[in-house]
Amino acid sequence: VPKLELRAVRQRYRGSRGETLALDRMDLAVAPGESVAVLGPSGCGKSTSLLAACGLQRPTEGEVLVDGAPLAGPRLETALILQDFGLMPWKTVEQNAALGLQVRRMPKKERMSRAHDALRQVGLDEFAKAYPSELSGGMRQRLAMARALACDIDLLLMDEPLSALDALLREEMQNMLKRCWREEGYAQVLVTHSIEEAVFLGQRIVVMTPRPGRVAKVVDNAEMVADD
Ligand code: ADP
Ligand code: ADP
Repeated sequence: VPKLELRAVRQRYRGSRGETLALDRMDLAVAPGESVAVLGPSGCGKSTSLLAACGLQRPTEGEVLVDGAPLAGPRLETALILQDFGLMPWKTVEQNAALGLQVRRMPKKERMSRAHDALRQVGLDEFAKAYPSELSGGMRQRLAMARALACDIDLLLMDEPLSALDALLREEMQNMLKRCWREEGYAQVLVTHSIEEAVFLGQRIVVMTPRPGRVAKVVDNAEMVADD
């Protein structure tokens, strides 16, 4: 049973300039523990696919399944990392890392201990008491990762998580994303417009058409193995 499945997902948006068909019968299946990169031009519906996959937006038509069951809304074991990382500027690094656990009503002591473990994993433990504004772009990215890792996720969805970073940092962060995925064993979907990033991080690469987006082709990426 796939961890995540999108079946013929269609999304229409009504905006000031009328109706847009953003996604047209998008199909996607991600096996447990698998890493899939979704590659496509701007506006082809990549973000829309992730909103559907995490249960934040119900598609106009089609089905979203997790572990073979229809997804009714956001679930605790799925994390979504956005381009701007979604950090809370008024909370410290450790509080940001613990946010997902707070939602789960985990007691404070356990929450902070798990948050610190996750911060250690991404090399941010020394900055636990700092605020996001004091962090560099790469460190903010690692903090977003720590927040997801603290939660025992089985599915990680990422919407161009590296595109706000400069080239050198991007390479370093790609390595971190790969290492965390290997260590933790969650399934992941990485949405990107960078071919290089897709090749580095995706065991399968799903190439989308321009808007309205649908799958143009799927490429097996034999180079990208889980334990090389
Ligand atoms: P991508 O992530 O591939 O850039 P998106 O999923 O963000 O694509 O958007 C797909 C299309 O849908 C774009 O044309 C975008 O302008 C449009 N769109 C996205 N969100 C909305 C919205 N909330 N309302 C109206 N149009 C939207
Ligand atoms: P209604 O159509 O009566 O408003 P619901 O919104 O509760 O019903 O959803 C009907 C069915 O669709 C339920 O089985 C629900 O789990 C499933 N469902 C809800 N959201 C999604 C989604 N994003 N993708 C696929 N199925 C969904």
